[in-house]
This record gives sequence, C-alpha cells and structure tokens, in this order.
Amino acid sequence: MKATWLIRGARLAGGEQEDLLIRDGVIAETGRDLTAPGAEVIDADALIALPGLVDLHTHLREPGREDAETVATGTAAAALGGFTAVHAMANTDPVADTAGVVEQVWRLGRQAGHCDVYPVGAVTQRLAGAALAELGAMADSAARVRVFSDDGRCVFDPMLMRRALEYVKAFDGVIAQHAQEPRLTEGAQLNEGEMAGKLGLAGWPAVAEEAVIARDCLLAAHVESRLHVCHVSTAGSVEIIRWAKRKGWRVTAEVTPHHLLLTEELAASYDPVYKVNPPLRTSVDVTALRTALADGTIDCVATDHAPHPVEDKETEWAVAAFGMTGLETALRVVQEAMVDTGLLDWAGVADRLSVRPARIGRLAGHGQPLRAGAPACLTLYDPSGRARADLSGSPSKSRNTPFAGMALPGRVVATFLGGSPTVLDGKLA
Ligand SMILES: [Zn+2]
Repeated sequence: MKATWLIRGARLAGGEQEDLLIRDGVIAETGRDLTAPGAEVIDADALIALPGLVDLHTHLREPGREDAETVATGTAAAALGGFTAVHAMANTDPVADTAGVVEQVWRLGRQAGHCDVYPVGAVTQRLAGAALAELGAMADSAARVRVFSDDGRCVFDPMLMRRALEYVKAFDGVIAQHAQEPRLTEGAQLNEGEMAGKLGLAGWPAVAEEAVIARDCLLAAHVESRLHVCHVSTAGSVEIIRWAKRKGWRVTAEVTPHHLLLTEELAASYDPVYKVNPPLRTSVDVTALRTALADGTIDCVATDHAPHPVEDKETEWAVAAFGMTGLETALRVVQEAMVDTGLLDWAGVADRLSVRPARIGRLAGHGQPLRAGAPACLTLYDPSGRARADLSGSPSKSRNTPFAGMALPGRVVATFLGGSPTVLDGKLA
C-alpha cells in the first residue's frame, strides 16, 4: 500500500495556490483546504509544483563505464534535480543496439526506482554508421524504445539517415540526431572564432552543426518522418529549425542548460570542465537559443548529462573528454537563464521541461498537467533564495560540472514518482 500524501498550498505550474491529494499513485484531488485523515502532510506554501521533469538526453554509462556512472547513481542525481523520467543514451559498452541491451538498462532503472528510465536505441549497429541497428526489435521489446540516436556520433551517411527516418514511422519513433559534420570537425576543440584562435585550439565551426540540421530537416520532410535535433548550439541552427517548423515539418529540438548560460569565453582558463560537444558558443548564440526556447522554436531543455571520471577530465584540454554533468542543476540554471530574465514563466518551464519532452518521447505516464486523475509524478521547487551549487554530496559518480560553486537561484525540495517520494526536503527519500 502506498501512503496518501497531502501537499498544502503549492502554486501549480506557478499559478494559484492549491492543495494536492496523492493517493494510489495518482493525483486524487486538487483544490483549497482539502482534508485527508491519516495522510502524510507536506507544507508547500509558496513552492512551485511542476509535473515531474523529463530528460530526453542523459548518459547513464551503464553497461560498460560504471566507473563514470551507473543507472542507479545517475537516476538518483536525476531525482534530486526534480526528474521523474530520463532517456538513457545508447553509447554504452556494449552499445544499446539490440533488444537485449535496452531491456537490461530498462530493468536496471526499475530496480533502482529513482526515476523511470527509457532507453534510447542506437540508430546504427555499434554506432559505426554503416548498417541500421535492430530498430524494430528494440521498439517491440519490454523497453518499448521510441527514441533512437547514435548520440556522441552523427548519423552522417544520408542514405542511412533516410532509411532510419523511414523505418521508425512504423512505430511512431523519432530519430534524435547529434548534428556534427565529421570532416569539418576533425580535431576540433572549441567554437571557431577569435577565442579559439587566441587559445590556439582547433576551431569547431557553426556550419558543421547547421549543415547537418538543414539536410536532416529536408530528409525528414521528404519521407514525412519525425526528426529531433539534439543540443542545438548556434543562432544559425535556430533559424533553420524555425524555417522547418514554419513549413509544418515534424522537427523538434532541444537545448542544454549549459548552452543557455555559458559562453566560449570560459575556455580562456583552459579548464577542461568547459570542454563539451557541441562546444560553448558566443553570447549572440546564447541569446538566440534563449529566444528560441521562449517562443517554442526549441521545444525543450535536455541536460546531456555526460559524466566522466576525474582522469578523463582533469588533464590537458586537448586530450580531455567532452561533456559535463547537469541533472541536479538543470532547473536552477533554467530559472537563472529563462525565468529570472522574464523570458519564460513557470507554466512555460512545465511545458519545456516536462510536457514537450514527454510528448516527443511518447511517454504516457509523464508530462501531464497536475490535475485530478493524472499520475502523481511531480516536483516541488522553491524559487526563492540563491546559493552556491554544492555538489560534494552528489550521488553521481562524476564531478565534471561547471556549475559546482556557482551562485544559482532556487532549490528542488521534493520529487514524487508514481505517488511515492523519491526526494524529500532536498534529500533522497
Ligand atoms: Zn551529442
């Protein structure tokens, strides 16, 4: 038997204060002055209640790199960040390119119980970009895969990309593309421009991302399939996606918290914590990404949580691994970049961090407005106050985050998954 919970006085998606009664895994009732004898009561006066956050882009590293992260440690970090569902990227070892591997990851998620884990299936066998993986078998498996991606690598062969887009239509799947022209980014280290020149690091041109996005939008339109663009990072990419959406094509896109807040200037320290793929760009790009997320051209925020062990990150820039962690700080960074700047209200945050990513991933039990009858997956967030992000006690196995020690607004207070708390008072329940 699950306990009954009465959450008092939360502002639902930032609106009016109401009580939420949670019973048998669902929201039984919302309204004022609810009573429920025997219920556990949470005083949520002035806290924001959001539908549980959904991440379309998480690297959990298991199987194969359990020294960097496991399904259990990564999803514990996700719950602390307010997430109730994460999509686990396929670039594990072995690669998640068969029904067997995606079912293994899905089962590990259920065992850990912090978050619902939806494995992403690889588009190509072993991410080698040569032959399609078993897309249909992964879709039919217990993991019911709907999002497919070779993330970390670009599906560069246009014929293979076309076939993948065609194939997933049979089960309403989507291809999530890591848009990176491989020839234009050989040895690339940092956004091409003045800063890369000054630091003597090989440049990563915006066109390497934009050319692939343009091609894939055209391909998706041609075969009338669904394309999702991972971690959009340039102003030019935003323009291409805006154009594709205006055409009515089935194109969606995500932006990471770090691309909403940080710029290439930070690389001046040569600290590899700022080394990420795609690279941090300019303030002009950051402004365009924020505007696009606000107007819906970019559908959602996805963390691209990419844990790496110390020895792979705390080394020379040129040999350090690409990537940052970000599950625990995502909502705080979004408040800083989008809410406190007046670009997005809390209803908008609920839409971009829960409703839309759940829809893109075709998740039935997530991303639903907090109303009677909805699954009790929700996040209680305190937007007041400002504090340095302290990740010293993080359950994640990795510490490669640029946000540690940074002053950020807000705090995740509680997370509920299917009617039970995974986080209470900011700690794992
Ligand atoms: Zn990627």
